[in-house]
Amino acid sequence: MTDLLSRCRVVLVRPHYAGNLGATARAMRNFGLSDLVLVAPHASTGDLDARRMARDGLSILDAARVMPDLGAALTDCVFSLATSSLTAGVFRSGTIGTAAEKMPELLAAAEAGPVAIVFGPEPTGLNNEEIGRCHGLVSIPVNAEFSSLNLAQAVAICCYELRKAWSKSVNEARGQPETPERAVAPFADQDRMFEHLREALVAVGYLFGEKGDSLMHALRQLIGRAMPTPQEVKILHGVARQLLWTAGQMKKSEPNAEGE
Ligand code: SAH
Repeated sequence: MTDLLSRCRVVLVRPHYAGNLGATARAMRNFGLSDLVLVAPHASTGDLDARRMARDGLSILDAARVMPDLGAALTDCVFSLATSSLTAGVFRSGTIGTAAEKMPELLAAAEAGPVAIVFGPEPTGLNNEEIGRCHGLVSIPVNAEFSSLNLAQAVAICCYELRKAWSKSVNEARGQPETPERAVAPFADQDRMFEHLREALVAVGYLFGEKGDSLMHALRQLIGRAMPTPQEVKILHGVARQLLWTAGQMKKSEPNAEGE
C-alpha cells in the first residue's frame, strides 16, 4: 500500500523564526511525514537554532524545498488545508473544522495525489487570499482568550491527528480493530468471584446483619463498573482467599477456639 503520509506536505508560508523550522522538521519526523516546503522564508534552514531544534528531523530540514509563493508550493496538490486560529470572515467560513475532523479528509484525498497543510507566518498568520486558495480551513480549538499557538506546535498537532487517521486506516485495511478489544470476564466468572468475596468479607466481619446485602450490592456495582478482565477477577479471588485464610488464623488464636 502506498505510504500516504509521504504524500502529505507541510507548507510553511513566510516563516520568521529559524527555531520553528527545526521544530517543524522534528515533529514531521516524529509523526512520519517528510515533505517540507518553505514559501519565501525569512529564516534559513542553515541557522543554528533551526538545526538545534530539528534533532532527528535534520534530514527533513535539509531536504526542504523553497518556493517563491503559495501557488508554486501547491502546484501538484490535489487537496490543501489552510490553518488559522482566526475563524471570522467570509474566507474562513467555508469548510472549517478541527484538526481531528479535517485530517481524515486530507488523508482520503492523498489517495489521489499529493496534499498539503499550509501554515502561516508567526506574526500575522495566513491572509484571506492565501486561505481562499486552499480547500478547507483547520482551526485547532484552544483557549478563546489566547487562541494563537506556536507555529511548530500547531504543525505537531496537525501531524498527530493525521497520523492517528492514518493508523486507523492502516489497521482497518488489515482487518484489525484499532485497539485490541479488552477482554472482560464473563458474568458467570464474575459471579463466582463475588460469592467468594462475600464469603471472605463475612468471615472478616465486614459484612454482617441487615446492611450486609446492600453493602455487597454496592461492591458488586463498583467492581462491575470497572468491567474486570479475567486476570483482574483472579486477583480478586486472591484477595478473598487471603482474607479467608486470615480469618481462619484469627479464629484459631481465639481463646475458645476449637482444640483449646
Ligand atoms: N493570529 C495568527 C497567528 C499566527 S501563529 C493566526 O492564527 O493566524 C502561526 C501559525 O500557526 C498560524 O498561521 C497557523 O498556521 C498556526 N496556528 C496557530 N494557532 C492555530 C490554531 N489555533 N489553529 C490552527 N492553526 C494555528
